[in-house]
Amino acid sequence: MNSGYQIAVLPGDGIGPEVVNEAIKVLELLKKLDSSLNIEFETFDWSSEYYLEHGHIMPPNGLEKLKEYDAILFGAIGDHRVSDEVTIWQLIMPIRKQLQQYINFRPVKLLKGVSSPLKNGHDIDFVIIRENAEGEYSNSGGRLYHGAEEEIAVQNTIITRLGTAKCANYAFEYAEKHGKRKVTSATKSNAIIHSMKLWDEVVDEVSGNYSSISLESYYIDALAAYFVSKPAEFDVVVASNLFGDILSDLGSAVVGGLGLSPSANINPEGDFPSMFEPVHGSAPDIAGKGIANPIAQIWSAALMLEYLGREDLGALIVESIEQVLLSREVRTPDLGGTSTTSEMGTAICDAIHQKLLREKVDKL
Ligand code: ATP
Repeated sequence: MNSGYQIAVLPGDGIGPEVVNEAIKVLELLKKLDSSLNIEFETFDWSSEYYLEHGHIMPPNGLEKLKEYDAILFGAIGDHRVSDEVTIWQLIMPIRKQLQQYINFRPVKLLKGVSSPLKNGHDIDFVIIRENAEGEYSNSGGRLYHGAEEEIAVQNTIITRLGTAKCANYAFEYAEKHGKRKVTSATKSNAIIHSMKLWDEVVDEVSGNYSSISLESYYIDALAAYFVSKPAEFDVVVASNLFGDILSDLGSAVVGGLGLSPSANINPEGDFPSMFEPVHGSAPDIAGKGIANPIAQIWSAALMLEYLGREDLGALIVESIEQVLLSREVRTPDLGGTSTTSEMGTAICDAIHQKLLREKVDKL
């Protein structure tokens, strides 16, 4: 079915390596059970520990190295001994920006077997398409008069016609391809009158090319409230970098928490590898205890397989995750259980195994 995929694996810090182990366990199992899945992994130990040892968080040719792969499976990065300026601005941001992963894709789906903390939390199933390369997360700006009473900080938001159009196009195309009815745009053009007005204009222009899909725009404050009061009404939400980031964590919370939320940083043209990672961070409070929920990471690996053209295997992983959650026998502490990270990974592997065996028997 394919000539083989080369995957760069970056486990990172904290719970990153613990949950990545489980995702690799699942991928290795699939490789064993499905001879048409030809996938190889190479692990890179770029992390805060690596930074403390080498003085840089990835080697000078790190980005060039990553370009040799078909995709990147990323765990999490963040450690109290190393500043965020290093972990974010010398690792995450360069990967996202230099590899032109300008779409951040985040499913917000209430899995079977999970309860939403919301009373009206049924049938939640939408995606957030977040602009991932510009917007509020630009390093344009500066500070003057450090420590003085007159100190000034300027942080520029970069919204471009092209960047917004590419993001909006991706959202509408996704909606069209997946039979969705509408795209919801997050804005704040009543108060942020330059950059967000351009965002609104461009999203509106793009929507004109998709007659079967409606566009609605909400101010971000109202939209945050609607995520809580009517979460089942969304199909595809498109947002700038900062708004999308905040909405994603809120989205995770309404469908059961960070341990269940995957994401993809996508270069839609395929000129560079895309990167798949859980929404959560390195969770230093539970790192090393073996109790992190690996589902977000395993689901991120499923998104990776879908992106690589194996929608069948991606769907198989998600169905198997749901089967384990429905059985309620294996649950990590974030879901109210006492199971370990590894027990959860193994249960998902067992469910995959059973499903594939059943399929083979059905075909006899
Ligand atoms: P970072 O600085 O790396 O972002 P953080 O602790 O600020 O770390 P997260 O890592 O996202 O942010 O964690 C937020 C909370 O969610 C923590 O209490 C953490 O234990 C919990 N959490 C995050 N991921 C998981 C997971 N996979 N399983 C269980 N709990 C998790």
